[in-house]
Amino acid sequence: MRCPFCGNVDTQVKDSRPAEDHVAIRRRRFCPACAGRFTTYERVQLRDLVVIKSNGRREDFDRDKLERSIRISMQKRPVEPERIDQMISGIVRRLESMGESDIPSKMIGEIVMESLARIDTVAYVRFASVYKNFQAADDFDKFVSELRPPVKPGE
Ligand SMILES: [Zn+2]
Repeated sequence: MRCPFCGNVDTQVKDSRPAEDHVAIRRRRFCPACAGRFTTYERVQLRDLVVIKSNGRREDFDRDKLERSIRISMQKRPVEPERIDQMISGIVRRLESMGESDIPSKMIGEIVMESLARIDTVAYVRFASVYKNFQAADDFDKFVSELRPPVKPGE
C-alpha cells in the first residue's frame, strides 16, 4: 500500500482489527520512509467460491455445509453460539478475501482448524480427527502434541 504522504510503496501493517461489527478490517499502517501513519479498511468483495477437492473435483462452496461440520465439532462445548457464528463468518470472509475464487479444500480445512484451535481445543480435536482421517492413533497423538503445548489433565 503506497504511503499517501511520500509515495513509498513499502509500508508496514502495524495492527489489524475488525471494524464495523466485523464487516471490515481496519489496518493501521506505518511508512518507514517518512514515519507517516495512516489507516486502511479492508472489506469483503463477494465472489462465488469454488472448492477444489483433493481428487481434483470442483464444487461450489457451501457455507451451510461448513457451518454444519463446525457445529458438530462444537456440540456440548461451553462456547457461546454467537462466538461460533462470528468464527464461521470470519472463516468465510477469510476465504472470500484470499484473492482467489478457487480454493483447495485442504486450505479450508486448515483455516477451520486454526480457528477452532483458538476457541476450543476439544472441538478442534474432534474436527481434526475427522478432517485428517487419521489411520493410526499414534499419528493422531503426535499431531495433537505438535499443535499445542501439553494440556494439564482435567483442563
Ligand atoms: Zn511515507
